Amino acid sequence: MIIPWEQLPEITPFKPESEQAFITRPHGDWPEMEEILRQLSQIEFIHRQTILDSDTVQALGVCPQEDTLKQLLLALHPWRKGPWQIAGINIDTEWRSDFKWNRLFPFIKNEIKNARVLDIGCGSGYHLCRMAGAGARFALGIEPYWRSFAQFWAVRRFLGNIPAAVLPLAIEEFPPERCKFDMIFSMGVIYHRKNPQEHLNGIFNMLAPGGTAVVETLIATGNDPLIINGRYAKMRNVHEIPSIPGMIGKLSRAGFAEVSSVNVAATTCEEQRSTPWMSYQSLRDFLDPDDPGRTVEGFPAPVRAVFIGRKK
Ligand code: SAH
Repeated sequence: MIIPWEQLPEITPFKPESEQAFITRPHGDWPEMEEILRQLSQIEFIHRQTILDSDTVQALGVCPQEDTLKQLLLALHPWRKGPWQIAGINIDTEWRSDFKWNRLFPFIKNEIKNARVLDIGCGSGYHLCRMAGAGARFALGIEPYWRSFAQFWAVRRFLGNIPAAVLPLAIEEFPPERCKFDMIFSMGVIYHRKNPQEHLNGIFNMLAPGGTAVVETLIATGNDPLIINGRYAKMRNVHEIPSIPGMIGKLSRAGFAEVSSVNVAATTCEEQRSTPWMSYQSLRDFLDPDDPGRTVEGFPAPVRAVFIGRKK
């Protein structure tokens, strides 16, 4: 009922696993999120236009119950990935995810046209919308964090029938043989994986011949990876932050050709910050107040890179 299976034949192959996730990985807050989605589905909205190819993903139109709409959207706090504008309400998310998109888009703008795309760890699906806006045939996201999953379906109700969907699945729960993709994105995920090589091998296997992988990750700027025991910038579950040569080696070992690092950028407090839509701590609180070049744990501050590889 939350996922409109009937309207989206592209996702029906994944219905069994998705329904299973509600049972095997239940979240205590889910009934509340589901109720918010139900109320959002009943909000009156006179849709005028959907804009997927600008920095802010927008659903333009008139909503006579704007205050109620804003309260319902705020109840899905914390909003991490965006920005969105829904019926005139600006959802100013923790991340300016458009920065990341703008760093990588020039390198994929041709091949994304008409591509069947998978985005692993898509969050609330901001990049899926940009992929759809760039001409993807269908952009499928998988995301095990229930709140992000709910946020996507909350905004999609206003964006209309765009060729994008999110399934509530972790990569381990996703059936790799069910269909092949022309492009697979893994952004901000690999340093959370215990076995990064296996993650890349899996991406290679899910790509159709001629397909492209886009892997975005925190990186160590030298030749050696950063081994994290404990936390990195207050994040748990960070295992290893790879070096650029290390990532290129791993992508090559997975079978990728024409592997390159297309962009390297330090994360700034303009890209990641607290806002009324994400009122918890953010990057500024994760850096050493006396040395913003270091995290509070003493590691180098976050630098991210985008890698591209092709399956011949
Ligand atoms: N791709 C987005 C979000 C990055 S944050 C971006 O680049 O902006 C990393 C996301 O990966 C989180 O939403 C987290 O819930 C998700 N994630 C973590 N482990 C995962 C797994 N095993 N499978 C799929 N997604 C995962």
